Amino acid sequence: MNACGILLCAGTSSRMGFDKLNTPLCGKTAIERSMDALIAGGCDSLVFVVSGESERTVAALSVPVPFSVVQGGEQRTDSVRNGLNAASGEIAVIHDAARCFVMPATVKASIEAAKQYGSGVAALPVTDTVVRLGDGTIETLDRNTLFRMQTPQTFRMDQIRTAYETGGSATDDATLYAKLFGVPHFVLGSEENRKLTTATDWVWALERLSPSAYGIGFDTHRLVEGRKLYLGGVEIPFEKGLLGHSDADVLLHAIMDAILGAMKLGDIGKLFPDTDLKYAGIDSRVLLRKVNEMVQKRDMVVSHIDATVICERPKLAPYRTEIERTIAADLGISPGEVSVKATTTEGMNDEGKGLCISAQAIASVRHK
Ligand code: MG
Repeated sequence: MNACGILLCAGTSSRMGFDKLNTPLCGKTAIERSMDALIAGGCDSLVFVVSGESERTVAALSVPVPFSVVQGGEQRTDSVRNGLNAASGEIAVIHDAARCFVMPATVKASIEAAKQYGSGVAALPVTDTVVRLGDGTIETLDRNTLFRMQTPQTFRMDQIRTAYETGGSATDDATLYAKLFGVPHFVLGSEENRKLTTATDWVWALERLSPSAYGIGFDTHRLVEGRKLYLGGVEIPFEKGLLGHSDADVLLHAIMDAILGAMKLGDIGKLFPDTDLKYAGIDSRVLLRKVNEMVQKRDMVVSHIDATVICERPKLAPYRTEIERTIAADLGISPGEVSVKATTTEGMNDEGKGLCISAQAIASVRHK
């Protein structure tokens, strides 16, 4: 059964006071973040329901699955109906783009539930005490019967289409579905799956995306004749090269240790031991990409790198841009997030005497 994500991007942001769907949050809009989560969670195709600026945002996206774009309607119900009419597949995954931190696991669970039970709507039990205030009365509601409805709300396509054709208006798909097909199956949502509605939510999102940890790295390799010199993944013309088990790229080694430190995953000596023949002469860029995969698997991303190469010769300034671009490409981040500097030690120390090159780095990581 194919699942089609219906991504609602037509909100007016009236409670936020600015355009929450189209303003980038650490480089990615809420629309793009939601799209990524739907695809990672198992949507085979997408329908973007847009209006105004969100149409331009969607047009600029690179969408890795088949998709279509339709205009939103007056009310959310009209927008969902337009989306359903343009959708294909047997399962409809209806999601508000403003819930851009939905976990792919939640999307996946809702699709699995819809395949098994016909529906799977994300909901969260209420943990606070909830009261109803009347005229001079206060009544505590039974928490066990209360849920906060989230999205995705996922259904068999034919049933949810019928519900929308006959059901009238609702702020929530599950309510319309229930009128015809009974109470839908619930899957557990999460606090992270918060709808960006007010300025407080926006501040929460920025804090969530700000660096959550930092790590430092340091490395030194001896300069010898008869070896090529690699720094930051770039071959640098020089009469000597660095000695080591791998290509001895001292800069990438310091950067990898900084990233691993931020993630608390040990160090490259532990992960890629120089006693292991498979790492003999290996391109350190391959190792950097492996380290980055470990970061990504934990739903994190490297947010910034700053590094210093300590070296008397050669001059690194001409290669700096290429080095920064190479590192950024391997980490899948913008070159603007990578800074590489070089310094001499004015002829002092082993670096200054040309016996070795050293490097130090700091890395920060954050949630995706
Ligand atoms: Mg090393």
